[in-house]
Amino acid sequence: MNFIEKVRAAGIVGAGGAGFPTDVKLNAKAEYLIINAAECEPLIETDKYICREYAEEVVAGTLMAAEQIGAEKVVIALKAIYTPEIAALKAAINKAGAKIEISEMPTFYPAGDEQITVEFVTGRSVPERGLPLNVGVVVNNVGTMMNLYEAITEGKPVTNKFLSVTGEVAKTIMLNVPIGTSLRECVDKAGALIDDYAIIVGGPMMGDVLTKKDDIDKAVVTKTTGNIIVLPKDHYLVTWSTDSMEKLRHQTKSACIQCRMCTDLCPRYLIGHDIQPHLVMRNLWRENLITDDQEYINCFGSALNCCDCRICETFACPMLLSPQKMNAYFKVQIREKGLDKPRNQEPTAREGLDIRRVPTGRLVARLRLSKYYGKHVQECIEFVPENVFIPFSQHIGKPALAQVKVGDNVQKGQLIAAAQEGISANIHSSVSGVVKEVSAQGALIHAEGGDNHK
Ligand code: SF4
Ligand code: SF4
Repeated sequence: MNFIEKVRAAGIVGAGGAGFPTDVKLNAKAEYLIINAAECEPLIETDKYICREYAEEVVAGTLMAAEQIGAEKVVIALKAIYTPEIAALKAAINKAGAKIEISEMPTFYPAGDEQITVEFVTGRSVPERGLPLNVGVVVNNVGTMMNLYEAITEGKPVTNKFLSVTGEVAKTIMLNVPIGTSLRECVDKAGALIDDYAIIVGGPMMGDVLTKKDDIDKAVVTKTTGNIIVLPKDHYLVTWSTDSMEKLRHQTKSACIQCRMCTDLCPRYLIGHDIQPHLVMRNLWRENLITDDQEYINCFGSALNCCDCRICETFACPMLLSPQKMNAYFKVQIREKGLDKPRNQEPTAREGLDIRRVPTGRLVARLRLSKYYGKHVQECIEFVPENVFIPFSQHIGKPALAQVKVGDNVQKGQLIAAAQEGISANIHSSVSGVVKEVSAQGALIHAEGGDNHK
């Protein structure tokens, strides 16, 4: 197997984002390789832990990826305040004699967003709805580099995931668990301080909010799960997530003062993209009166360039309105109408970008999360649950197809669902045990056997 085939065989996907298959990403040539360790959202500890504890593996994986894509410049980007992590990485870089730069970012949100990181490191703006590769850059998460190192040197597929658990818990913890472990069990390890809680899977800005007991019970750790935040059900972020579109529309029509703050602080606007949420909000009232397609795009088309970072609604808007949710609504409407908006292929950053970055500490205060901020993890808890449910779609692209049936004995690391042609990813068993259920969605496996704790 060549390098790309090994990466594909191991089922490696982006560990810090939407799960883009890494073999596809690395099957390219680029001037820059940027390893993203900036931990985009507050309250996530995972990337920092990996940098501290696995710096040598990260550096080794980074060098392999850099060689594969022919990168002339290799950069690990993280926040300047991550001093122990920077020290660990620098020591590993020196030990390897590697030519890898460390890019130290200020503490702002969304440092760590792929396009914002590219702009910070290279000064280049990614085209609207484009990829870093369009400006000669490949970006990978730091956890992905560790998985890459293990796949290439040991032939080890992705079976486990590091994730932090924080919020309304006895102790903020780091876990290393088999993929398919229930999130409820992860929360139990941290010791929830309340019985009836909601969780955010991911960061507080872009994570999925789960409020119903059934939804939390069904949710499992996937290749992209990096964090769980436990919150009271009456927490601001939880109640806000359940606001109806109807309510938000009424609020917009009656309360938007057209101050433009949502546009002026929008990170995508600041790197030069045509995204103007204040115009979307201004024109909302006449949505159903517009019959001309071009006029519709003029009013609402910039929503297509929204990355859902939510700065506009959680930080910028003085009226507590929700431009992001309106953008999400218009993205769907525009696609259903079969319309599109031309993409600016050569955006340039706007003046004031540096002074309009949103400081993370102030954002955390706005989110009413200050009491949970700054609780760092020291050690990692590993455990193997009795059962895992391993989804066959943990990545962007086509789901993997089942290769096992009920009653099969499987080994940890065995292929249980195969990637389809094109963009897809292999799925491996995260435990040794017996297959109890299989569907198009995934496999339930009962863990048995001594090698589960290796
Ligand atoms: S969510 Fe708001 S701030 Fe973020 S990209 Fe979209 S419009 Fe801009
Ligand atoms: S920040 Fe709020 S009030 Fe100001 S233009 Fe945007 S949506 Fe309207």
